Amino acid sequence: MTRSLNENETIESVLCGHSELLVIALNLIQEPAPKFIQVVKNLRICGHCHEFTKVIAKIEQCDIVVRDANRIHHFYPNGQCSCQDHF
Ligand SMILES: [Zn+2]
Ligand SMILES: [Zn+2]
Repeated sequence: MTRSLNENETIESVLCGHSELLVIALNLIQEPAPKFIQVVKNLRICGHCHEFTKVIAKIEQCDIVVRDANRIHHFYPNGQCSCQDHF
């Protein structure tokens, strides 16, 4: 988060309802930071979340698995995803 919340905003609305981002963020503020995060999502992951998750995996040097409606995305610490961005 790079800005503070307005009165009528929640963390979820700022993340445009993309619950997987919220789950990942909540995982990462825990101590100690996990090396593996798994998220299950009912809908297809969007490009924004996909890019964001790749960056998080790289910064945190952790593995993140997001299972969405279509496939399983495995984000590696090198910033790549198992789907090769075909999703
Ligand atoms: Zn999204
Ligand atoms: Zn992917």
